[in-house]
Amino acid sequence: MHWLPKTKLGKINFILFFIAIIGCGALFLLWQHSKTSYDSVDAAQDTVKDPEVATKKSPFKGITYIKENSKTHQYTLTYPRTGIQAVDDSIQQAIYAQRDAFLDSDATRFHATISATTSGQYISFLIKNDLFSATNEVKSTVQTFTYNRHEKKLVTLQQFIKTDARLNRLSKEIRTEIQRQNEHLQWSAKKIDNLTQDTWETFENFGLDGKKFTVYYEPHTLANHLSVISIPIAAIDKKRDTAVFRLNTHGKKYVALTFDDGPNKAVTPRILETLKKHDVKATFFMLGSSVEEAPALANAVLKDGHEIGNHSYGHENLSKMSGAEAEANINKANQLIKDATGSEPLTIRPPYGARNAGLEQLSAQPVILWGVDTLDWKTRNAASTLKEVQQHVYPGAIILMHDIHPTTADALDAVLTYLQQQGYTCVTVSQLEGLR
Ligand code: ZN
Repeated sequence: MHWLPKTKLGKINFILFFIAIIGCGALFLLWQHSKTSYDSVDAAQDTVKDPEVATKKSPFKGITYIKENSKTHQYTLTYPRTGIQAVDDSIQQAIYAQRDAFLDSDATRFHATISATTSGQYISFLIKNDLFSATNEVKSTVQTFTYNRHEKKLVTLQQFIKTDARLNRLSKEIRTEIQRQNEHLQWSAKKIDNLTQDTWETFENFGLDGKKFTVYYEPHTLANHLSVISIPIAAIDKKRDTAVFRLNTHGKKYVALTFDDGPNKAVTPRILETLKKHDVKATFFMLGSSVEEAPALANAVLKDGHEIGNHSYGHENLSKMSGAEAEANINKANQLIKDATGSEPLTIRPPYGARNAGLEQLSAQPVILWGVDTLDWKTRNAASTLKEVQQHVYPGAIILMHDIHPTTADALDAVLTYLQQQGYTCVTVSQLEGLR
C-alpha cells in the first residue's frame, strides 16, 4: 500500500476524506430521489388528484369507507368498500350515477354521507345525497345497500322478504306504524295508503338494525325531512307467512265502518237500526267495562250479524303498560265479551291506536287501526262527520266512528246513503282484511 500517506495522521485524514466523498454522493442521490418524487406528486395534482381519494375506517371488520373529495367540482362522496369485487362495483356504480346526475345538474354542491346499521349477518348502509342549489337550498335523496357478510353479496328487498304474503304484511305493519305516529293526522289516509302500497319498489329504501326493519322515506314524500319508520323484524318473519291485509281491494270499492267505545244504551240501538235499514254489516270495538254494563246490547250487536272487536277493558293506553299487563287487560275484555255474546272478539283496536309491542307478540288477535278518522268524537256534528267521510274515503278504507255520540247516530243515515251512491260496499273489518 505504498500510495497511502506515510504518517498515522495522514492516514486518518485520508479515510475521513473518503467517507466525506461517499457521504456527499449519498446525499446527492437522496436529493435526486426526493426531487423526482416531488415531481411526480406535482404531476398527480395536475391530472388525477381531483378528486382526492382517501380510505377510512368503518365500524365493521373487513369493510372500509372510501371518501372522494373533488375541489374542482364541489362534491364529496362516501361509500363502503367490502373487498368483494361484484359488491363494490355495484355500490360504486350507484354512487357514481348520483354524482353524474349532479354534474349534469344546475346544483352547485353535492355531498353524499354514509351511516350504517347492522343485524346478524347483515350490514345496512344508508347514503344520504344532498344537492345544494346556488341559493343553498338542499334537495336530498337516499340510497340503501344491505350487505350479507356471510354470503358476501348485496341483498335486495325481494331477496330478504321473499314472498308476496310477507310483503303484504310489511305493507300493513309500516302503514300501521305511520298511522300510530300520526295521531294528529297531519298526513291524509290516502297519502299514507299510497306510500305503503304492497309493491317491492315502495320499500326499496330499507335497512336492518338489530331487531328492527326500517323503511326510509325521502324528504318531501312522507314528511319534509327524511322519515325513518321501523317495525320489529319479527312482525314480518317467516312464521307469519300468510297475507292478513288487502290494502288493495283490486278495483272493488269496499269499506269497513267501525264503531268504538260502546256499547252505549242511548246510541248503539240507533246505530243498529240505521245499519239494518241499509242492510249493512259493521264492526264494533267494544270496551269490556261497557259490555259489563250492557251485556244484552253487546249480544244484540252480534245477533244482527255485526262483528265485535276488543277495545280494551276501560279505554286504557296499552302502550304505557308492560306486555303482561296489556295482555291481562285484553283478556279481561275478551272474557266479558265472550260471556255476553258467546264468542270471543276476532280483533283488537287499542285505544288511541297506541300499540303494545309485547302484547302483539303474544296475542293471536290482529291489531286493527283505521284509515279515515271521521273526527266524530271531536266535532260532535253530524254534517262534519259526513263531510269527513266524503272528503277522505277511498277503496279499502277502515272508517273510525264512535257509537257513544248521538251526533254519530244522526250522521249515519247520510253517510251510508253517500257510500252506496258512490258504489261502496260495506264489509266487516275481518272481511276487508281477509281474516275470514
Ligand atoms: Zn276509543
